Amino acid sequence: MANHDEVYQHYIDGEWTDGTGEETFESENPATGKSLGEFRRGTPDDVDTALAAATEAEEEWQALSHIDRAEYLWDIYHELKERHQELGEVVTKECGKEISEGKADVTEAWHMVEWAAGDARHPKGDVVPSEIPAKDAYMRRKPRGVVGCVTPWNFPVAIPFWHMAVSLVEGNTVVWKPAEQTPWCGQIIAEMFEEAGIPDGVFNMVQGFGDTGEAIVDDDRVDTVLFTGSAEVGQEIASKVGGQPGKLAACEMGGKNNIVVTEEADLDIAVHSAVMSSFKTTGQRCVSSERLVVHEDVYDEFKERFVEVAKDVSVGDPLEEETFMGPLIEEGHKEKVTEYNELAKREDVNVLVDRTELDDDEIPEGHEDGHWVGPFVYEADAQENLRCTHEEVFGPHVALLKYSGDIETAVDIHNDTDYGLAGAIISEDYRQINYFRDNAEIGLAYGNLPCIGAEVHLPFGGVKKSGNGYPSAREVIEAVTERTAWTLNN
Ligand code: NAD
Repeated sequence: MANHDEVYQHYIDGEWTDGTGEETFESENPATGKSLGEFRRGTPDDVDTALAAATEAEEEWQALSHIDRAEYLWDIYHELKERHQELGEVVTKECGKEISEGKADVTEAWHMVEWAAGDARHPKGDVVPSEIPAKDAYMRRKPRGVVGCVTPWNFPVAIPFWHMAVSLVEGNTVVWKPAEQTPWCGQIIAEMFEEAGIPDGVFNMVQGFGDTGEAIVDDDRVDTVLFTGSAEVGQEIASKVGGQPGKLAACEMGGKNNIVVTEEADLDIAVHSAVMSSFKTTGQRCVSSERLVVHEDVYDEFKERFVEVAKDVSVGDPLEEETFMGPLIEEGHKEKVTEYNELAKREDVNVLVDRTELDDDEIPEGHEDGHWVGPFVYEADAQENLRCTHEEVFGPHVALLKYSGDIETAVDIHNDTDYGLAGAIISEDYRQINYFRDNAEIGLAYGNLPCIGAEVHLPFGGVKKSGNGYPSAREVIEAVTERTAWTLNN
């Protein structure tokens, strides 16, 4: 990589191709501002060619057994494990995540591949008793056909495999567009499929921006769209595709996630969880917490300890093991985070820490052109309907919301956003924990843990504005297969 003699291509129908467009784009290292390589920008015509290949390849791919299809993924599983350090560094260079997070992204990818390939040998449906004695009755799953995958930059290896691994093992063919910020990760994943010898047309990758994603979403040959990204784009896709018979869109979107710290909390766990969930990955996880809902009895102590860390936490070269926070993904995103910090001030919150602009000596040497911000922490009134406390910022922008009264009040505040992705409770009281578990309007709930992390064995997805009812990870099977009720008279 970083070989500027070469412009990296699309992978369509088993071939590397320039496609039809003239335009190229650069992948940027957000910690240095330097280019990592140049990539072809896909056009609707390139998507058309990829979809023709994926449609053509369906029949032969579906004729293979699940176990044979899984073989290609086992190769990729071993490759992801063997190249853990190298690929983790690529993730870190391309999206600025700290190296431990870059490597965790790769780990999560092989967990998903392992799950999907292993699942090839598991039962695929239910055999049920029939009302008629001689009749067999069972449920079968069939692949939906062509799956169009559109993925975000912030988990550039894990999320594509969350989409594609189960889709492929179940017998679908795939056309995938990586995020425009992380085409290098896209290139490497496509190389892995090529090296695994996946049949032509079964896996296709077209690089590009939103218009390329839109060409995939809009095409009638796509049977399922798997989208992960912002609520704005996801809602547009869900409403566009939702109205079309026979086509389905599974959309995983953003969050405005809370951590509830009750009067029964262990404050060591509370402060650690809030720091990890608010500042790690510079707040750029879908599950990052931007709202800390804290009981009045422990509020002052929690605030003092959290603010102390927010003032002190440093940014650094994300490739260094000891770095806690890397940069934001791009200059445009830094502008967005800065605007939200300014908006909070205009909304008259009580600012406790404002490190929007870091001093020169806080920025690591040689990284002056990176997109750096520090934490922005403030107190706000939980009852006020402020934009800064209700809209996803996707940065280290954190509101402290004090509450008094019982767990019911805390959960009411927790639920008072349009989003419903993730949330955590910190408490030693099981009545409070159980109340949160049963009443928090979220898809991912954490107890006495940071509000981060995923298990591929569990569904990963949100409710309300965060998802449209098709969680990812193991549950992606519901979006990429059709169920048939089979009855057979013997
Ligand atoms: P984004 O919505 O800007 O882009 C996501 C992908 O959609 C990219 O590949 C982009 O090119 C493509 N795209 C953009 N416009 C499109 C259009 N009109 N039609 C089709 N495709 C289009 O999101 P992002 O900035 O890459 O990622 C950050 C967002 O993703 C945050 O909101 C974050 O919370 C969310 N996210 C959610 C999850 C989850 O599992 N719920 C996981 C990671 C990130």
